[in-house]
Order: sequence, then structure tokens, then C-alpha cells
Amino acid sequence: MQPLRALPSVDRLLSSAEGMSLARTHGRAAATDALRAALADARAAAQGGGAVPDAAAIHAAAATALERAAASTLRPVLNLTGTVLHTNLGRAILAEAAITAATDAMRAPAALEYDLSTGRRGERDDHIAPLICELTGAEAATVVNNNAAAVLIVLNTLAEGREAIVSRGELVEIGGAFRIPDIMARAGVRLVEVGTTNRTHPRDYRGAVTDATALMMKVHPSNYRIEGFTRAVDPAELASIAAEACVPMMNDLGSGTLIDMTRWGLPAEPTVRQAVAEGAGIVTFSGDKLLGGPQAGFIVGRADLIARISRNPLKRALRLDKIRLAAIEATLRLYRDPDRLAERLPTLRLLTRPEAEIAAQAHRLAPAVARLLPEYRVSVIDCASQIGSGALPVETLPSAALAISGEGGDAPDRLAARLRSGPVPVIGRIRDGALILDLRCLSDDGALLAALA
Ligand SMILES: *Cc1c(COP(=O)(O)O)cnc(C)c1O
Repeated sequence: MQPLRALPSVDRLLSSAEGMSLARTHGRAAATDALRAALADARAAAQGGGAVPDAAAIHAAAATALERAAASTLRPVLNLTGTVLHTNLGRAILAEAAITAATDAMRAPAALEYDLSTGRRGERDDHIAPLICELTGAEAATVVNNNAAAVLIVLNTLAEGREAIVSRGELVEIGGAFRIPDIMARAGVRLVEVGTTNRTHPRDYRGAVTDATALMMKVHPSNYRIEGFTRAVDPAELASIAAEACVPMMNDLGSGTLIDMTRWGLPAEPTVRQAVAEGAGIVTFSGDKLLGGPQAGFIVGRADLIARISRNPLKRALRLDKIRLAAIEATLRLYRDPDRLAERLPTLRLLTRPEAEIAAQAHRLAPAVARLLPEYRVSVIDCASQIGSGALPVETLPSAALAISGEGGDAPDRLAARLRSGPVPVIGRIRDGALILDLRCLSDDGALLAALA
């Protein structure tokens, strides 16, 4: 065993070839700190009676620590959870056209609030409002940070200091602390609940109208379904009740979609065009749910109401930057050609992947995955993917998965932790004592094999 004083100094470690390489990659200050820390660990280990590490081992320990510190915690992952629009994994992944538009907008100044035809100041909404109106049939449109912000600014603009009427069956809570009663309170609006959890009638809304009523609100029950003895007032009927009371009706669609999903054999979800045609004065929906774009909140509807919303000072606080506007515009343009949408929009492409194709992929990958994880059993199972993010909560899509199990009750947890720890983390879900990797969102076999290797 080497004596303790055989340990090299920080200066010697830093001036060696390996030390200089660490300094070039990570910066001199960070490399010095990491070598000093690795040296302290080595000294402690040696004092504890262990072997005295040599310079190579200390360099290696410092390099590992530096690489770990340099790796982003917001790094790309493989979403094999089976939930296509996974809120915790960032929801929709963008179309190539949107990625190009966003990076172009990042690299150079853009005519964001500048009218190129007159050389005068322009409006940032003007880049996308006409396109949104074309795709939804709405008179006017604006866009804010996300749909929660859209709901907040609409309520605040149209009903501050007054009352908004909502059915008790629609007082939703979305993951991440979005709750209708709380957002109402923050908007300065008094919530008037009508009906019961399972049944709300037209007379309930009519009976709640007072001089203070400013708005009737319909909310899409995004992540639950009330079944059995139920009654809800449909949006068209609520719009006419609102018209009788001389107040607007707002419909928070949540996910919303610009196109009829049944065209691709997917479950039906109300389209924005439908909601506008049903007479809602305002319709709100998300950019990164079924629409498949970046995070955003769309507000479409009557021109007079949109004009009032755009003048609210909150609009300035909730506005979008040029990067997201560019990505939204490019995403919306894809909707002009619905025939090619499923090949161009990743969200739709993943949602419409045929079960047989996913099953074939699972059978193709299973032997290779088994070779990479020799201490586990790998089998192919049928499973059900979810759409996620409050779209079609109870509907699932048939899919296929790798089910990976091992010895001991904690085997799935241990494997899940190991797969999360790689340079490209693989995120699955644990069920029935196995780690389930739903392959619906795996576009490239090689990506999984590389991540496991
Ligand atoms: C998802 C959702 C929201 C919140 O939208 P974000 O884009 O996540 O802010 C609001 N209302 C409903 C009904 C939703 O489903």
C-alpha cells in the first residue's frame, strides 16, 4: 500500500495531460474544484484504511463528477410510458417545420411587431390570428402563454367583480394545480355553481342569472367522465341561454382539436370549429395537447370580446415570444393539408400508429433488449396507450410493450432507476411486478438499444 503522502498535489493533477484536458472541456476553475474534491475523497478513503488511489483514478473520479454536473437535468428522454401527451415529459413534440421555424427565429431578429409593408409598428398576434381564424371559423383570435393563462385573462376581462355561472359537474382540476374555482378567484370573478355533480339542467343556469351575471362558462371534463344518471346542457343550448341573459358564453375546450380525429379512427373529440359554430363567444384551448404544437393558450371567438381581452394589461404579462409564435405558425400551417398531417405532425403520427406495427417492433426488439439486460426476462405484451393531457381520458389505444421482470420484488424499481440514470433516460411504467415499455412513442429502434447499451 502506498503511503498517504504519495497522493499527488492538485497542481500536479491539473498540469498533467488528463488535467489539462479536463480544464479545456469544463473550464479551469471547475476542473480544479473537481480534482480537489476527488483528492479529498481519495485521502479520506486512504485514511479509512483503503488502498490509496493513483492519479489516474483521481482524474477519472473528477471527470465523472464534471460530466455529471455538465449534463442537463432537462434532457431528452425516451417516453415509453404509453401516454403520448405526457405533461411531465413536456407534452407534444414538435413537427420538423415548427422546429426549423423556431430555430430560425432564435438566430436572427424577426419582424415580430413590425409591419414590413408600411415600416411601422405591427402586432405580434397578426402573424397567426388570420390562420387561426381560417382553421376555426372564428372572427378573431389571440394567443397567450398556455390555456390556464387563456382562461385567466378571459375571466378577468369579461367578468371581473361580477359572476360567472358554471355547472358543478364541470369544476375540474387539471394536474399541476389548475382548478376552476381557484382561477376564478384569481381572476376576481365570483363563481356561481349550478346543478349537481351528475346533473345540470337548462333551468339551473336560467335560475342563477342575476344583475351581476357576466358570463356562462362551459368546461371540458378533461380527465374524468361522469357516467350513469347524468345530464349536461350542451354548448349550443348554453349559448342560447347566455344570449337570453345578454352575456357571452365561454367554452374552455382544454385540449381541443382543429380537426375531426375520427378521420384517423381516433375517438371523437369536439373540434374548435364546432365549438365556435355552436355559438360560444369565446373558446379556449391548449397549443401542446392534441394540437401538437408548443405550449400556448389559444383564445378565439367574437371580435369585440377578443379586442377587449387584447387590451387587458394581463395580455402583456402573458404574451408569447417570437420563438413560440414561429413554431405555432408553422404547426398551424400543417393543418391546411389534412391529408399529410399524420405524416408531418408527430403527435398525430404517434396516436395513429397501427397496433400491428408496434407489435412487430416489440417482437423485433425483444431479443436484442434481452441480450442487453441478461439478468432480466423480456417478453412482448399487449397494452393500452393513453392519449394524455386531458384529451379523451377514458379512451385508450391498443398498443404493444416490452414487459421486463427480474428476481426479487424490487427488480422493476431497480431496473426503472437504472434506465433513468443513463445519458438518454428511458421512462416506462411499473405494473404487475414488471417494467412496461410501451413502444408507441419509440420512432427509432436504435434509440432504445443505444440508451440501454
Ligand atoms: C389542460 C386544460 C387546461 C390548462 O391548459 P394548459 O395549456 O395546461 O395551461 C385548462 N382547462 C382544461 C379544460 C384543460 O383540459
